[in-house]
Amino acid sequence: MAHGSTALIIGGSIGGLLTATALHRAFDEVVLVESDELPERPGPRSGVPQGTQVHALLAIGARSMEQLLPGIVDELIAAGGVPMDAGCDVAIFEAEGWAGRITSEAHVVSMRRTHLEHVVRRRVLELPNVTLRPGEVIGLTGDGARVTGVRLEGGSRVTADLVVDSSGRGSRAPVWLEELGCARPEEQELRSYVGYATVPVRIPEGVFPDGVPAILSHPTPANLYGSSVIPVDGGLHLFGALGMMKAYPPTEREAFLAHMDKASSPIVAEIARKAEFVGDIVGYRMPGTRRRLWTGVDRPDGFAAVGDSVLSINPLYGQGMSVVAVEAVAIRALADRADAHDGRLGARIQDAVEPIVERVFQLVCGIDGRYPDAKHIGIEPLPAEVVAMARAMGELACEDVEASRAFRYAVQFFANEELMTQSLVTKVLEWMGAGRAVAEVHKDPHTIPGILGVADPPTVPDLVPHG
Ligand SMILES: Cc1cc2nc3c(=O)[nH]c(=O)nc-3n(C[C@H](O)[C@H](O)[C@H](O)COP(=O)(O)OP(=O)(O)OC[C@H]3O[C@@H](n4cnc5c(N)ncnc54)[C@H](O)[C@@H]3O)c2cc1C
Repeated sequence: MAHGSTALIIGGSIGGLLTATALHRAFDEVVLVESDELPERPGPRSGVPQGTQVHALLAIGARSMEQLLPGIVDELIAAGGVPMDAGCDVAIFEAEGWAGRITSEAHVVSMRRTHLEHVVRRRVLELPNVTLRPGEVIGLTGDGARVTGVRLEGGSRVTADLVVDSSGRGSRAPVWLEELGCARPEEQELRSYVGYATVPVRIPEGVFPDGVPAILSHPTPANLYGSSVIPVDGGLHLFGALGMMKAYPPTEREAFLAHMDKASSPIVAEIARKAEFVGDIVGYRMPGTRRRLWTGVDRPDGFAAVGDSVLSINPLYGQGMSVVAVEAVAIRALADRADAHDGRLGARIQDAVEPIVERVFQLVCGIDGRYPDAKHIGIEPLPAEVVAMARAMGELACEDVEASRAFRYAVQFFANEELMTQSLVTKVLEWMGAGRAVAEVHKDPHTIPGILGVADPPTVPDLVPHG
């Protein structure tokens, strides 16, 4: 630890908290600056407007949080989080049919986002050198060569050796850097105009299909409407009405149910009609996935950005919190070996974050790029052959353990490589060559098929920087 060193993190949400954990061994002091007054009990807050929407923690996110904060998964479960195997406990109806259910190592915990953040915050603020400073950052101090701290609303300044922006999708960091004379990062976008509406409910016993605790009927290019139900803490479930390409779900009860009726599988809407709604239906809209290219631009020393500030993703794939958890593991590996006074640490952090962002961005573009009207800004649409191959792989994944494993692990562990093994590519080409179609049993939207088989362990990509 370098004496007299301070890291300052803008934003005290999931990204800020996990980044603080990653830096606390390397810096004397870690200051989280947060503009929201943080509630004493778990609850919604204005700085995280998405916080009441359905949130899934992926297996790689749970693993990464556990690496950073040993025991946190048990704490989440003790706080009411529901442990699940995302390979078989989440039944997903896709464009091609039911994604094959497999017993897997994709262990996840399902709970309300507000409650998850509360448990993580309590744990991080127990770290002796991490402090929370209420305040709104309105600019950076320093110059085009080095950031030396932040300016707060009200006129005060805080100095730091390293400033990390974790202020979310609405981050004003590009403007703040421009004020110091630096170039703004370029942006890439895939606009798929996503809409959510979520409500907490109580569900009577015996309403779910046997052995299936969570169900997702995905919006697809052929049907823009979707629905989901997941178990969360407090004996509750969350229903989500989902929409792509501006099929925004309404928040009035009957219209909300009618939206879910349009999903490709009717099962979630049928369960919703038997549920007791215990809160308001809250809506949320976002234009889609946006990535800021922070590497390669002319950046001052002493600065980095993480989380949604860098990559804000279509939330349908449940990746955002897990991305920033993986980023934090990579940041810790770097920071533990670094001199905290070295201004280049910021650039090295950004370089370490970039491959994580790239692999998740490519995965999401591969899925959302199938929507013919999705708007590509700064990126090329997918070639037709790739779309055709992805469709065939989706079909195969309804019936075949290897393909289903690849799909589930690619999503759950950011393990894109799983989709490109020689054996799988050969199977997909054979499937296409033979003009095969998914068997009816996997396509019936009214009935969730049983478990296909047991998956081998995942090959989790090593995203920690070495050397
Ligand atoms: C509808 C929806 C559903 C989602 N579902 C999932 C899901 O299933 N799984 C998943 O992993 N992710 C999901 N996400 C994404 C997830 O919410 C984000 O990826 C995650 O919260 C990113 O964390 P963050 O810390 O980068 O930013 P945020 O959580 O957005 O936090 C930013 C923080 O910075 C603070 N702040 C902002 N400006 C300032 C300032 N100037 N000064 C001081 N503080 C400031 C804010 O108050 C806030 O606390 C979803 C998102 C949406 C929109």
